[in-house]
Amino acid sequence: MSLRCSLFDLDNAYNKFFKEKVGYPKFKSKFNKNSFRTNMITIEYKGRTYYNIKLDLIGKTITLLKIKNMKIRGYRKINKINGRIINTTVSRELDDTYYVSVLIEEDIINYKFMPTTIIGLDLGIKDLVITSNFKKYKNEKVIEKYEKRIKQKQKRLAKKERGSHNYYKLKREIARIYKKIKNARKYLIHHITKDITDNNDIIVCETLKVKNMVRNHHLAKALTDASFSEIIRQLEYKIKWKGKKLYKINTFYPSSQICSHCGYKNPLLKNLNIREYTCPNCNYELDRDINASVNIMFEGLKLYMNEVSAYNLI
Ligand SMILES: [Zn+2]
Repeated sequence: MSLRCSLFDLDNAYNKFFKEKVGYPKFKSKFNKNSFRTNMITIEYKGRTYYNIKLDLIGKTITLLKIKNMKIRGYRKINKINGRIINTTVSRELDDTYYVSVLIEEDIINYKFMPTTIIGLDLGIKDLVITSNFKKYKNEKVIEKYEKRIKQKQKRLAKKERGSHNYYKLKREIARIYKKIKNARKYLIHHITKDITDNNDIIVCETLKVKNMVRNHHLAKALTDASFSEIIRQLEYKIKWKGKKLYKINTFYPSSQICSHCGYKNPLLKNLNIREYTCPNCNYELDRDINASVNIMFEGLKLYMNEVSAYNLI
């Protein structure tokens, strides 16, 4: 049994509903994110079954509380759910748009794990994910553009009088761009993690250095770190659903110093500006990040082989 969340964007009907009706949960502060939860209730009455939450993924509507067939937009293109709805949470974002997330309980069938494919992943900044299959998933240009725009607006915000009309107007604009970044990033990461977990049985990545991440206050860096955590989070649960396997290798493993061709370790190689790995031992040349991801893949393969041989000895 496992729990899974799908998120949908509610259309303006909800906004209108809240303005017109009285007596439903009110969102407290204008500038705080707020949410409320509705549990799924099943009612048996005169031989018929009724539900207080109805989700129609074909017609793209949801029925919540007393509002029927509200239009939804989802970032994931799913048209059916294998499981039952547990609850829904409606939340209001900083820019006054509403979201509903639907919590679903579904059965996972455990097949015998017989892997035929393995992939190593290296996480980067320009290319978000670099794989041992020589594939690079680029960070989206549009995200960089939004980041720049936020920086400019934050500078302007600092000059505005706190609490003034223009101050709040600018604050709302910033919140809107933040949301755009958040959505673009989430969509991109869903695409990447789906592709990787659909096409590979064993997935290997490095353990994230959480301590270093928390210390960083720089905006662009903070967003990159958040992306890394989101990639790992999505990989973890998608791998679980699909019955695949994830190996996280030690942070101290020098994936960028080792030659993926002959195994020679070059401890002098620390300069991040050098994009190519050139092996002083066998002269092999390879893109630095791809070389690292191939090493990560081999390290994961070792872990898997150790597990399998340990199992076979019993
Ligand atoms: Zn070499």
